[in-house]
Amino acid sequence: MTFTYESLPMRVVFGIGSLRQLPEETERLGLRRVLVLAAPGRRALAEQAATLLGEVYAGLFTEARTHVPADLAEVARAAAREVGADGCLALGGGSTIGLGKAIALTTGLPVISVPTTYAGSEMTPVWGLTDNGRKRTGRDRAVLPRSVIYDPELTLRLPVDTSVTSGFNALAHAVEALYAPDASPIVSLMAEEGVRSLAAALPVVAADPSGMKARTDALRGAWLCGACLGATTMSLHHKLCHILGGTFDLPHAAVHTVMLPYVAAFNLLAAPPAEQALRRALATDDVPGHLARASAALGAPRSLAELGLTERDFDEIVAQAQNRPYANPRPVTEQALRSLLTEALKGTLSP
Ligand code: NAD
Repeated sequence: MTFTYESLPMRVVFGIGSLRQLPEETERLGLRRVLVLAAPGRRALAEQAATLLGEVYAGLFTEARTHVPADLAEVARAAAREVGADGCLALGGGSTIGLGKAIALTTGLPVISVPTTYAGSEMTPVWGLTDNGRKRTGRDRAVLPRSVIYDPELTLRLPVDTSVTSGFNALAHAVEALYAPDASPIVSLMAEEGVRSLAAALPVVAADPSGMKARTDALRGAWLCGACLGATTMSLHHKLCHILGGTFDLPHAAVHTVMLPYVAAFNLLAAPPAEQALRRALATDDVPGHLARASAALGAPRSLAELGLTERDFDEIVAQAQNRPYANPRPVTEQALRSLLTEALKGTLSP
């Protein structure tokens, strides 16, 4: 066995009611002027955080949008400059945390993240910006949140459909971490436990969205899956979802949910240890089928067609997927890609 593992310098505060520790976290970082970032629908929560911040609260920017449009990032940077911010608090899902990262990328301002979905961006040094229908991503330590506060209370109102698709988004990180070129024993442990915790919690969350125990288990699993994303290089699944979201504007978490079983069916054939870990975590002998049936049973979209994709879009997807090499446990030929996309378009694993 050979591997390289490097841990990321970040601090995680987890627990019910942990948002109240915000003043301590800003104090630890020595922040004096904090700009609060949120999505338009999350204003009440952002105001609650502003109150907790007290005199270090510098302003509110509630325009976060999915895939971080580059012009929006510019407006947010200007807002940070205007209020003299020396740090940002990104409170919300991956879109809001992505906006915080976009500010950090060019200004170096430290970000505190308070995730309220299961997307996992808070645990990674990966930034993304969308310009003219193309999403660019990169890795930069400057965007890695300095402190992450996970408070299950903040997820109690996350709608069931978003909870489910966001949960599958997180599972996808763990699945791809298990066969990543830079996988390691510690990442595999996190991935297996993340999948176990989150997959078991999601049906309970769907049945009772305000149940604190399942919400806590789901968020704990999401943290572990997010840590896998931050520690490894993702493969075909993330590449395809990135294209489908960035170019075709399909909803990020729903795309992950639909695609995961199909990429797993393709890749796990060449990744036996990953498949074994997932079989244990999901208590099944049929990982792709289980993933497809589980998401469908929880009401998630089953096919790319349901999300609005058509076969006419395949040429562009294939061209983009093949224009830059990336690691994958199996070689991705054009024919394999078209066949995988056809299956996902039809939703053949969850009839
Ligand atoms: P999102 O941030 O767009 O949130 C989805 C919706 O849920 C929004 O309408 C939001 O307002 C709402 N919401 C969030 N938390 C809520 C809560 N607790 N209660 C009620 N509503 C709530 O979606 P997302 O799936 O979290 O993030 C997707 C974005 O994150 C994509 O742009 C994706 O590329 C990016 N992402 C980046 C990374 C990375 O490492 N860079 C990782 C994962 C995702």
